[in-house]
Amino acid sequence: MNIGQEVLKTLKDEITEVEYNRYIRHLTYDIKKSTSDRAIFYAPNALVVNWIKNKYSDKLAHLFEIKTGSKVFVQITLKNKIAEKSEIKKVTKIKQNSSLLNQSHSFDNFMVGGSNQFAYAAVKSVSENAGNVYNPLFIYGGVGLGKTHLMQAAGNVFQNEGKVVIYTTVEQFLNDFIRHVRNKTMERFQEKYRKCDVLLIDDIQFLSNKEGIQEEFFHTFEALKNTGKQIILTADKHPKKIGGLEERLQSRFEWGLVADIQPPELETKIAIIKKKCEINKVKLSEDIVNYIATVIDSNVREIEGILSKLHAYSQLMHVDIDLSFTKNVLKDQMNENRANLTMESITEIVAKDLNIKPSEIRSKGRSKNIVYARRICIYISRELTQHTMPQLAQYFGMKDHTAISHTIKKINDLIKDDEDFRVKIEELSNKITSI
Ligand code: ADP
Ligand code: MG
Repeated sequence: MNIGQEVLKTLKDEITEVEYNRYIRHLTYDIKKSTSDRAIFYAPNALVVNWIKNKYSDKLAHLFEIKTGSKVFVQITLKNKIAEKSEIKKVTKIKQNSSLLNQSHSFDNFMVGGSNQFAYAAVKSVSENAGNVYNPLFIYGGVGLGKTHLMQAAGNVFQNEGKVVIYTTVEQFLNDFIRHVRNKTMERFQEKYRKCDVLLIDDIQFLSNKEGIQEEFFHTFEALKNTGKQIILTADKHPKKIGGLEERLQSRFEWGLVADIQPPELETKIAIIKKKCEINKVKLSEDIVNYIATVIDSNVREIEGILSKLHAYSQLMHVDIDLSFTKNVLKDQMNENRANLTMESITEIVAKDLNIKPSEIRSKGRSKNIVYARRICIYISRELTQHTMPQLAQYFGMKDHTAISHTIKKINDLIKDDEDFRVKIEELSNKITSI
């Protein structure tokens, strides 16, 4: 198996079967043209190219980095299209900056509304005045609300000014750290992260309970901050709520500005859909745009999936995209999302989030945190799967269906009375449905 195939195989294990079959399966790796710092994959049509570029190129690059130990630029191209000169030029430029920014994440492509204007304004002003306004800038909010997009929009501005920008997730940062420790090349690690002009770290909540990397990150932070280098961080919650963080880190996260992103209002969703249509060259009538905006809830990431699916189906079946066609495709998509959800996967995600074992949730344990986790699992399973109450009772070790309906009522009351709890349930449901 060549390295390209190996990477695809690893990716297969990390994503759903549906996504794999729909997109990744169509990729072929060009072993002849790929080099040690450039991996070339071919896709059968522009849709798949775009989708994979947007959704998987970071992931693919990251997997190559893990396997080869160095940065690899991943290029997704149409079959038969030979790499053009300009593209090669672009590749060299990106490589020099050694970052994995998605070029289409720009401020121009970001639609601003009440829900995100605070975060937008904060990131924009940082992009115009690196290191001098808010440092660090901390953006937080739910899944798919545009945190990565905004952060990378600033990154692209800096990169175009010739600054050395590092964009990384906590996971990549951690892997990089482990690799350098193993190879006894920590000076190189430190040099890399402490000498850049701008450091963007995505999903910082994953630092939680990882002491070794928190220590290293603390020193990186200090070095950058003391030399006036800009730091931007994102997370799914406010620094105070992350938990499992050293106090000195938590307080530093609040030194600059903490800005939140809220789920988009209807008008913003409509604007986003229109923008995505423009970018992906999909034509939709006004009523279809409105329909999609009302049906999807907050996760903007779903929009791209829906558009690409509409487009693909209409081409495949030679039909125009009208409202009834859209309704069918969306219904199909929702069922498909749900079909992958099982009580087991829900339990696993909730257990991980609450730091207990899945087996404890399914046990007869009565301690407070176990009961709490079990109730949440039951509630979410009832909401998101087709299982009956007796089935839930059996799986979660409850007496019978009355015990389940009692639990669900309890959770409903809690959701009404306790704002923090409601947010927690939403956050977990989002996490579960976005996998
Ligand atoms: P997060 O990092 O918050 O989970 P992302 O930044 O990855 O979310 O956004 C998910 C998708 O939604 C991306 O394709 C992004 O371009 C798009 N998106 C989110 N918010 C907006 C917006 N306001 N305008 C345009 N696109 C958006
Ligand atoms: Mg993100």
